[in-house]
Amino acid sequence: YSKRYLEILQKRKTLPVWHQKEEFLQALKANQTLILVGETGSGKTTQIPQFVLEAVELEIPDKRRKFMVACTQPRRVAAMSVSRRVAEEMDVNMGEEVGYSIRFEDCSSSRTVLKYLTDGMLLREAMADPLLERYKVIILDEAHERTLATDVLFGLLKEVLKNRPDLKLVVMSATLEAEKFQGYFYGAPLMKVPGRLHPVEIFYTEEPERDYLEAAIRTIMQVHMCEPPGDILVFLTGEEEIEDACKKISKQVANAGDVYGPVKVVPLYSTLPPAMQQKIFDPAPPPVMVGGPPGRKIVVSTNVAETSLTIDGIVYVIDPGFSKQKVYNPRIRVESLLVSPISKASAHQRSGRAGRTQPGKCFRLYTEKSFNNDLQPQTYPEILRSNLANTVLTLKKLGIDDLVHFDFMDPPAPETLMRALEVLNYLGALDDEGNLTKLGEIMSEFPLDPQMAKMLVVSPEFNCSNEILSISAMLSSKCHYIVLSILCLESNRLSKWKYNNGLRMLLLSLRMHACLPVPNCFLRPREAQKAADQAKANFAHIDGDHLTLLNVYHAYKENNEDPSWCYENFINPRAMKAADNVREQLVRIMVRYNLKLCSTDYNSRDYYINIRKAMLAGYFMQVAHLERTGHYLTVKDKQVVHLHPSNCLNRKPEWVIYNEFVLTSRNFIRTVTDVHGEWILDIAPLYFDLENFPQCEAKRVLEKLYKKREREREE
Ligand code: ADP
Ligand code: MG
Repeated sequence: YSKRYLEILQKRKTLPVWHQKEEFLQALKANQTLILVGETGSGKTTQIPQFVLEAVELEIPDKRRKFMVACTQPRRVAAMSVSRRVAEEMDVNMGEEVGYSIRFEDCSSSRTVLKYLTDGMLLREAMADPLLERYKVIILDEAHERTLATDVLFGLLKEVLKNRPDLKLVVMSATLEAEKFQGYFYGAPLMKVPGRLHPVEIFYTEEPERDYLEAAIRTIMQVHMCEPPGDILVFLTGEEEIEDACKKISKQVANAGDVYGPVKVVPLYSTLPPAMQQKIFDPAPPPVMVGGPPGRKIVVSTNVAETSLTIDGIVYVIDPGFSKQKVYNPRIRVESLLVSPISKASAHQRSGRAGRTQPGKCFRLYTEKSFNNDLQPQTYPEILRSNLANTVLTLKKLGIDDLVHFDFMDPPAPETLMRALEVLNYLGALDDEGNLTKLGEIMSEFPLDPQMAKMLVVSPEFNCSNEILSISAMLSSKCHYIVLSILCLESNRLSKWKYNNGLRMLLLSLRMHACLPVPNCFLRPREAQKAADQAKANFAHIDGDHLTLLNVYHAYKENNEDPSWCYENFINPRAMKAADNVREQLVRIMVRYNLKLCSTDYNSRDYYINIRKAMLAGYFMQVAHLERTGHYLTVKDKQVVHLHPSNCLNRKPEWVIYNEFVLTSRNFIRTVTDVHGEWILDIAPLYFDLENFPQCEAKRVLEKLYKKREREREE
């Protein structure tokens, strides 16, 4: 064994789960299902799968027989980071014995025996392999998070276990809610790993904070200047906010000077490149000079640091009390991510992160009264606040027809299930009896929303599958945010907010690639704006954002995927590369199902028309109509919406199709494209069934079009 291996082994043996290794292995041997509860950082995620692996290996010494252990994670970052760590602990190459699998990225091989994968990926594997036969042991980790996919896996595995006596299930959780799991899994034994948390002193604010971001930065500075050594962990809600905060903190720290010791600020969020994610585990910087004040690491993270990833050395936690949470309103069929107050359980977990290595302090940026009266005891399971269209399609594909009697730990609202069945019926994935159609079967093979899957499956009929693939890939890898935010830097339509936002995104994209030559990096804001305007002029398609994305993709390919070309054009090359990878995988699925790859002649006037018709075939439920009052109304659900400022249109078309409904103080529709009323009548007559259509301006317009067409047909 290498020296490094033995060093790490020494450290591993100090983790609390090691004291119960034998006890755990015996319990595993004696039971089919086991529930394990242990404080964050006790070694569950990194050690338990290795223990299991050892036990399975002993049991099946015949190396030719395949056995595998799966460990699910709700978050992609965790799956990637933990598998890398475990590969190192086992002294093997990543992707060989130990691998990971997340949507659109499979880093495992035929040699892999331990696989970390997102819960969503295990669910997808179950679609092709209903009894999950390649696994001997399945570990559902972070069960307390109660993500949608984990909840579905609970119900599914309960069935699978009945049919596979040789399969074992370990459910791991960081909170005591695990007793609820015990009841659900027929009283499976519960094993507790005693934590070794140091005391954490909790501070509240006297008065409610007006601006939590500003308060967080102020608190960081106070801790840095007044508190003894120890790293700081701050919880914020998302990428933009975190990047913004990191910049502000670095600036204030620089202003404070070296008297307080050197500081390293590290961000952590899901779209951060893996190499940057790894930086959270780096030690704090050393003192500037011998005997000088020690350095401090400040980690600014999303919820992923709450329980999924443990960072050693944290002594101070700053908790503004918010996280981005999914919410779904079945009445208007809108699902959004909203910054919302966390639960008491979350607040408790967050403060716990300060006491890993020594006594710590947690600064809650809300009042004690607010903690007691305003915070929910637990976060609602995701299944109660999600659009279930995708889940229902997956369940149907898994052969579960009776959704009402499926063994959900917390059954979703009937209205939400109805909405899901309705959407899938409109899309043609389910027939009127609720059975999966041939179309639905193919749609379920795409790891995408049903709308996008439908658009792809029908695109050959519109002779534009190549283009729809590119657009889908761009949307799936979030390129539309990055590309369009930057392209919206156009001066005359620019509000201050938009300007800052666009520039921030630009800086973000540049910062990530600072190691490469970055020509636009040295532009001053005004010059950058001008250059971005130029880039926009190069790509913008006046008929819509989806078509603009297509232009960007084409230009990227024409320029041989050259990163410097990307920088010159204010495009994030990492996002483009991700899109290209997604596209390749979607192509593979298309080919597997004999869906033709084809394009309309670019010089034909039908080129862009066909693309938009195919889009409409998937997204007809996301159409808005321009009312005489000058605002848009979503069809059928009649929500007043506005075009998101990032759009590339140079006018307000009568009908638009949109990719996303953004709920803020104002309701925006984001990533929009012009479509025609006549197409709507042809493509989605079931949805726009005029007889049962609610009274509105859109209905009158469609009726007029319909009559006109009837007249033409008669003549
Ligand atoms: P749990 O799942 O119980 O929360 P983990 O198994 O994730 O605990 O963590 C156990 C220990 O491994 C922690 O001390 C953590 O800091 C350490 N660890 C995990 N990943 C890494 C990594 N990539 N680099 C260094 N240490 C790590
Ligand atoms: Mg863990």
